Amino acid sequence: MYETNDNYIPRVIEKQKNIALIAHDFKKAELVDWCRENKAILERHFLVGTGTTARIISEKTGLPVRGFNSGPLGGDQQIGARIVEGRIDMVIFFSDPLSAQPHDPDVKALLRIAQVYDIPIANNRSTADFLITSEYMNAEYTHYVVNFKKSISERAETLPVDEQ
Ligand code: PGA
Repeated sequence: MYETNDNYIPRVIEKQKNIALIAHDFKKAELVDWCRENKAILERHFLVGTGTTARIISEKTGLPVRGFNSGPLGGDQQIGARIVEGRIDMVIFFSDPLSAQPHDPDVKALLRIAQVYDIPIANNRSTADFLITSEYMNAEYTHYVVNFKKSISERAETLPVDEQ
């Protein structure tokens, strides 16, 4: 379907992946535990994360995790921006469905942009387990993402803009 359609373009997720790690406060212990359990796999990839999550995972597991800002201070948006730029391939996001978050709009924005760019994203441990044990963790994977150049040129040509 995608091959015959230039609304989408192929993008390769390399064998060595850029993985973003995020956990809300009541889920941080669970993400640390999950990272410990999967350390042998995770250390073969590049890891980034929101500030506090990244710091705690680095300290508790020894995995190198590059930290962005803390989530409520824009860290989720930094990760979203990198998804748009094609610099993040996968997201492990242990969000807390039982606590209100001050940055709820940012959380929703991250989920949305991951969906737009067809990025695998795990919001709970079982999904993370399924992802990390996937055969694609050890291989290149080609997926199709929206052709933003075509979308912009079409929109620029077709949207009604009055000439003054
Ligand atoms: P944190 O941010 O890792 O800085 O705590 C996570 C979040 O709440 O989005």
